[in-house]
Amino acid sequence: MPETMHAAVVEEFGRPLLIKSVPVPEPDHDEVLIRVVACGVCHTDLHAADGDWPVKPHLPFIPGHEVAGVVSRLGRDVDNLHVGDRVGVAWLHDACLACEYCETGWETLCEHQHNTGYSCDGGFAQYVVARAQFVAKLPDNLDFGPAAPILCAGVTAYKGLKETEARPGQWVAVSGVGGLGHMAIQYAKAMGLRVAAIDVAPEKLELATNLGADLAVDAHMPDATAKIVAATGGGAHGVLVTAVSRPAFAASLEIVRRRGTVVLVGLPPGEFPVPIFDVVLKRLTLRGSIVGTRRDLDEALDFAARGDVKAEIATVPLAEVNRVLADLKAGHISGRVVLDPTAQGLSGHARKEAAAA
Ligand code: NAD
Ligand code: ZN
Repeated sequence: MPETMHAAVVEEFGRPLLIKSVPVPEPDHDEVLIRVVACGVCHTDLHAADGDWPVKPHLPFIPGHEVAGVVSRLGRDVDNLHVGDRVGVAWLHDACLACEYCETGWETLCEHQHNTGYSCDGGFAQYVVARAQFVAKLPDNLDFGPAAPILCAGVTAYKGLKETEARPGQWVAVSGVGGLGHMAIQYAKAMGLRVAAIDVAPEKLELATNLGADLAVDAHMPDATAKIVAATGGGAHGVLVTAVSRPAFAASLEIVRRRGTVVLVGLPPGEFPVPIFDVVLKRLTLRGSIVGTRRDLDEALDFAARGDVKAEIATVPLAEVNRVLADLKAGHISGRVVLDPTAQGLSGHARKEAAAA
């Protein structure tokens, strides 16, 4: 086992991450050490690195919470995993397992939880430590790269769709076709729902159509919301807002059907106006949704193992993390980028860019 590893470290909010050598972490008695094979880059990692949210991570920290890898060392009390197991690590690093929320299958709401890549170090590194009880086992036929985005984007989209309470045959609108949204379209189709996809970038709308969306609408068109209401015969039964845009949150209340449910999942900092009259008279439900439980995650992985959903991924070396984060901020990433901490040097894309400069 090496003593040091490469990691991408946030040392200052809003500044590029530093690729540096740091000690390989030691697993505690109920933890495992995992060799990272792939780690997806979620927009949450960007919010974390920019210090966007009211509760900020302590500096320095290593982001990354879509980790797929292999167990390489066990803490002394770990009996549910073996060295060599193919596993995933999600945002929910751990929870207390004893509070009202943990006891009722809502461990994602535990007030004592820790979060991978936020309150404890994550997977933008060659190794990560995880709590054994919260590690997901990866299905045998799912490769590490395509598995990684299921650990956050997939499970969050899947759980959020369940939270819309939309039934097969009904309409859901997926607002934002990024990492989360492109998975949401596929889960929704697999769940028998009809899908209206909304984004502001033509290539995202094209991806939405290729992934099976029944309707793809540019949010910047002046008649965007009216078009969705008309096409869905009175509004979508459920709306899942993954867009990193406050206007998209306000628009969700215009496209939801009477008695429908809007599920907020995207986390742009700030607030948006809620028209009280509409919510009351249309009997709307507005709710948040945060990642998914361990059970939701197993279900989300199972959809991927059966080939019902497939993350669109581009794999690049860990050293390119700052370019990936800049592209994510600019809205230029389709699907998900997955970091490979074992790859050396630059990918073909970055080599081309460097040569052109
Ligand atoms: P992403 O950057 O991959 O995707 C965001 C998408 O929103 C992009 O395709 C962008 O073009 C689109 N968009 C921008 N403005 C829009 C508008 N006005 N209307 C419609 N679409 C618009 O990001 P992601 O990784 O999918 O994450 C999305 C958000 O979800 C982030 O804020 C992230 O922090 C949050 N998140 C929440 C949870 C949770 O559990 N609630 C989990 C993971 C991520
Ligand atoms: Zn995430």
